[in-house]
Amino acid sequence: MPELPEIETICKDIRKLLLNKIIIYSIVRCKKLRKKVSKEIINIKKNKIINIKRIAKYIIIKIELGYIIIHLGMSGSLFICSKNTKINKHDHVDLIINNNKILRYNDPRRFGLYLWSNNLYNEKIFLNLGIEPLSKKFNLYYLFYYTRKKKIKIKDFIMDNKFVVGIGNIYANEVLFNACILPYRLSMNISLYECNKLINSIKYIIKKAIKYNGTTIKNFIRINKKKGNFKKFLKIYGKKKKKCKKCNFLIKKIIQRGRSTFFCNNCQK
Ligand SMILES: [Zn+2]
Repeated sequence: MPELPEIETICKDIRKLLLNKIIIYSIVRCKKLRKKVSKEIINIKKNKIINIKRIAKYIIIKIELGYIIIHLGMSGSLFICSKNTKINKHDHVDLIINNNKILRYNDPRRFGLYLWSNNLYNEKIFLNLGIEPLSKKFNLYYLFYYTRKKKIKIKDFIMDNKFVVGIGNIYANEVLFNACILPYRLSMNISLYECNKLINSIKYIIKKAIKYNGTTIKNFIRINKKKGNFKKFLKIYGKKKKKCKKCNFLIKKIIQRGRSTFFCNNCQK
């Protein structure tokens, strides 16, 4: 599932190609995604794209009339193609653009979203979201304060969207390795010193992953069909039984809340 750096990359790619272009109309082949595709999107006619941005893991396309909110769910992908491109199975939504391009959405499991909003900031889906990891509000005091209140494992804590948005499994593993903290420790036992390392690691890993356009392991592909390049910087994720790059111990894998969790017993305390 794409995480924050991958969504940021998609937004950057779309912005480059579609900003100030006009959506002429849409073709919706399947309305039934996680929620029904909004009728405003089905009926869209000649509207200029004014802005493209990310909120948590949502892609927001601002057009003259309002906002198109896209979420890729479990298996969704967006790509740019031309009118002659063959339509494949699971190509559910096309936005036809005035430069002879199409923004096409494919989603085998149909767990994504294509929703309309007139007023973004009143939308329920955004109300319960935590803060952005690269914002100033996400700082040591915030992390230390909230970790005291919770008796859950630190990895689950940093993956909780109500606390901080967009950190999924890959980056949670990388962050905890970088901060030298074992993933199964309880959040309330993480010291102030460790919280400081954790904050710095989250910002460092997320920024670097954005810089390298995210990580392609399974289903993340950029809209120009290129891959994300952060994979070569992964130090712990997917490295079971390989040597730790810092100390040569063998990397371990456990399953934590149904997700693969990798760590080095020697470097992480
Ligand atoms: Zn190690």
